[in-house]
Amino acid sequence: MSIAEKLLQIKTSLPGYVCLVAVSKNQPAPAILEAYAAGQIVFGENRVQELISKRTLLPADIHWHMIGHLQTNKVKLLIPFIELIHSVDSEKLAAEINRQAALMHKKVNCLIQFYIATEDSKFGFDFEESLPFFHNYINGKYPFIRISGIMGMASFSDNYQLVRSEFKNLRGIYNRLKNDYFKNDDQFKEVSMGMSSDYKIAVDEGSTMVRIGTSIFGSRF
Ligand SMILES: *Cc1c(COP(=O)(O)O)cnc(C)c1O
Repeated sequence: MSIAEKLLQIKTSLPGYVCLVAVSKNQPAPAILEAYAAGQIVFGENRVQELISKRTLLPADIHWHMIGHLQTNKVKLLIPFIELIHSVDSEKLAAEINRQAALMHKKVNCLIQFYIATEDSKFGFDFEESLPFFHNYINGKYPFIRISGIMGMASFSDNYQLVRSEFKNLRGIYNRLKNDYFKNDDQFKEVSMGMSSDYKIAVDEGSTMVRIGTSIFGSRF
């Protein structure tokens, strides 16, 4: 199947309200262009350097999402163009995004990443630990970031019950935050969860944004 056919197949299997982020990390510019030509506008990358060098080769109206762990010293490179940062995994990083965004007179869309898996190699806030940060945010400490939802990655496992329970947990975190901090904030609406192997479960459990690479582009080089 071509990239266009795979995209179409995935698109038709998703409810209309779910945003498909085509994860193009490790894929060359021509593959991305093929997806773009088939109508895909939103692409996700996990490395700043790779994103910046590929971006110059590709159409300017692509919406770029940062989905991987972000070091504070790379933040300023993204601010001028990034549409959404999925991977805000510490208050320190949020503060740096806010600081750089202020310098560039921008407001940057962010998702707060939660740690929901059983593996210990993944980044993200723990629910209890995140509360002081949300408290600071709603009290106006970070006026140059806009928190538009949360993100998480399930365990890398073929135990679907485990994966489902992790997604359920993330959706539950979203619901609590929405109720406690964002009741009157219509911008807080995204739950970014689900990848090639588990996006159907994620959508079942209330995902609004799936990040899919391999099922669109094939395996990475
Ligand atoms: C690579 C990656 C994906 C996509 O993974 P696939 O299995 O190729 O669909 C999604 N989210 C994050 C954070 C990633 O790093």
